Amino acid sequence: MTDPALAVGPARALAGLVAALHQVVSRDRSGADAAGILREVGLEAGESISGLFRQWLDRSGTPGDPAELAPEEFWGALSSFFEDLGWGTIEIEQPHPGVLSISSADWFEADRVPGRHPGCHVTTALLADLLRRVVEEELACLEVECRAAGHDRCRFLVGSPAALERIFQSLREGSEYPSAVGALD
Ligand SMILES: [Zn+2]
Repeated sequence: MTDPALAVGPARALAGLVAALHQVVSRDRSGADAAGILREVGLEAGESISGLFRQWLDRSGTPGDPAELAPEEFWGALSSFFEDLGWGTIEIEQPHPGVLSISSADWFEADRVPGRHPGCHVTTALLADLLRRVVEEELACLEVECRAAGHDRCRFLVGSPAALERIFQSLREGSEYPSAVGALD
């Protein structure tokens, strides 16, 4: 077995690229326009990061198909993969049967974001695409807390587009994310 970290060595430069993207895209654009472009980048990157994750799994001696892993194995592997990329450490919780929370106290993208709003847009879209490829179902992702906005951690909620849309509406009406999730059926 070779060191799985070797599979992602050159990809560590991606964190720097994301920083550069934030800078370039936010120049002369509204926050909403910049966010839209960054999300498209995240979606486009989903396929290649997904492929990189499979290579990383092969090197770590686990099956190359993430869908074949038990949930705890899958999340453990994804967490180690992100750490090897230098992106941060993730924690998984399930605040609702239909919603998963992926949080990180040291997520890389938050350090690259001009503050005030949840801003890990590349990650938000990338996680949705990456996980959609595993479960082969439509999934949405929403960042509900972000270090760039002054929270202790970045927190991404993942679930069906309908569930996430309801959470998004509750947040817009002023709810905190736990009550927004609690209000789901
Ligand atoms: Zn964030």
